Amino acid sequence: PHGAAILRDPFLNKGTAFTKEERELLGLNGLLPPRVHTMEAQVMRILENLRKIENDLDKYVYLNSLSDRNKTLYYRVLMENIEELMPVVYTPTVGQACQEYAHIFRRSRGIFISAEDKGRVAGVLRNWPQKDVRLIVVTDGERILGLGDLGADGMGIPVGKLALYSACAGIHPSLSLPVTIDVGTENKELLEDPLYFGLTQNRLRGEAYDELLEEFVVAVQQVFPRCLIQFEDFSNANAFRLLDKYRDEVLCFNDDIQGTAAVALACIYSALRYTGGGMADQKFLFLGAGEAGMGAANLIVSALVDEGVSEEKARQCCWFVDSKGLVVKNRDNLNAHKREFAHDHAPASSLLEAVESVRPTAIIGVSGQGKMFTKEILERMAEYNEKPIVFPLSNPTTKAECTAEDACQWTEGRAVFASGSPFKPFTYAGEKRFPAQGNNVYIFPGVGMGCMACWSRKVTDEMFLAAARVLSGLVTPEEQEQGMLLPPLTRIREVSLEIASAVAEVAYDQGLATHPRPGDLEAHIASLMYIPTYMDYVGSQDCDKGEPVK
Ligand code: NAP
Ligand code: MN
Repeated sequence: PHGAAILRDPFLNKGTAFTKEERELLGLNGLLPPRVHTMEAQVMRILENLRKIENDLDKYVYLNSLSDRNKTLYYRVLMENIEELMPVVYTPTVGQACQEYAHIFRRSRGIFISAEDKGRVAGVLRNWPQKDVRLIVVTDGERILGLGDLGADGMGIPVGKLALYSACAGIHPSLSLPVTIDVGTENKELLEDPLYFGLTQNRLRGEAYDELLEEFVVAVQQVFPRCLIQFEDFSNANAFRLLDKYRDEVLCFNDDIQGTAAVALACIYSALRYTGGGMADQKFLFLGAGEAGMGAANLIVSALVDEGVSEEKARQCCWFVDSKGLVVKNRDNLNAHKREFAHDHAPASSLLEAVESVRPTAIIGVSGQGKMFTKEILERMAEYNEKPIVFPLSNPTTKAECTAEDACQWTEGRAVFASGSPFKPFTYAGEKRFPAQGNNVYIFPGVGMGCMACWSRKVTDEMFLAAARVLSGLVTPEEQEQGMLLPPLTRIREVSLEIASAVAEVAYDQGLATHPRPGDLEAHIASLMYIPTYMDYVGSQDCDKGEPVK
């Protein structure tokens, strides 16, 4: 490209940072204001504008438009301000963005595959301008965060997750593709909204649905061979079924089941440093027995079995309350997943009752229902435990089972806390508290990078177990001193690199890696990580050779 076309290509555009020589060479003279700016000055301008915006959704729109103009600058701004901007690009704001996606729509992103594309899905994928796609995040929009069925508006989730893949693990943005499979929606409000941009029909179900998904998975193998597929925010039954069907066939995982499990386990490992006691002595009571809850409990069981505990005893550590009460043996309305964790125990119809009769050491909220950890429940937890573990993991913030400050107040400051959406640090009894964000963003970027770097054939549970251990192990003594369960997000690049290395190591151990093992695996992966620096068009140096970003 030459001249104005370069300014319109977000991967090539440098805006006011084009040098005098470049402007001469590329025919840009006069198309830009005369003064050449450094990237630092451009970052300053973006932040100045961004911080003037009061509403988070408007910040989201502003950042998206930057990404449309200049990817390099977008990622530089995001990476250098990850703690400030992650809540804008990701939970909680991305939830609001999805709820209003068609209304804040400016420019299409990613690929939409609709039920009408049946029979031509491969052709649709071929319309994507990048030919080398190595990573897809795909949703069908049916269970967006804890917000339910948002249909085609769910596209905000794959877009956001992939932005974090690049920012956190350095997957080059050109290698990734957000996909929404639009099979309709059961959301009445959307169906009646004149601006809604998905199919205005009820969801495809049964065989027709499975056939479309099968066509998609097969088409990805044809068009983008060996591409990693991350399933995201599918409804419960589809999520488990698709994972079972494809996990041994293609390189794929389900982030809600497996990624969430790993971050939950990491938070548990870290919490035990403060509460004392071993994993096998714990009673984890999950509120919610769906993708996140079952995924976490099954990974806890794997971790315990790996430590030499019997599977039966390991399962005894995990308890569930679903929408119908405590999951116990004599209930007849349990699916196969729940039956594995149904104990011989008296029934309980509410969480409070369940807490009183099970007396858990930890309560983990994965119900998508806000405010379920009430004052009374947390007071009970504080009565039974010196340091109760309290993890309201549901997203976005409106769906969190309790807030960080409530958990702290209602347990007299003794709760060991992690939440799915971020809560700001606060002071309690003169002491600064740093609520952990127990979100799978700590896991999926590293897992994906690890699998991509060694060209793994599959994603396995052992990789998530390794990721959980590495993540918890990365909390430094100083951070532990401050009560932290996870490293701060400012260290997310380092965290993702460590996880990627551990995951690739597992792939080599399991004979799944198809790329020859480099002598220094971590250095190899580090060398693959995208760093947003501008291309030098005159010297035509690669854009990835600049100063590393913290
Ligand atoms: P899911 O598969 O639909 O499961 C939801 C579970 O919650 C079901 O077992 C459901 O009960 C139960 N439930 C619903 N209402 C309830 C109530 N009033 N009382 C007790 N249980 C209730 O959903 P999921 O994929 O597990 O996601 C659940 C939540 O986890 C969402 O808010 C999501 O944002 C969050 N999540 C967080 C992360 C993270 O990284 N922190 C990652 C993934 C998901 P039934 O089985 O009886 O229907
Ligand atoms: Mn999710």
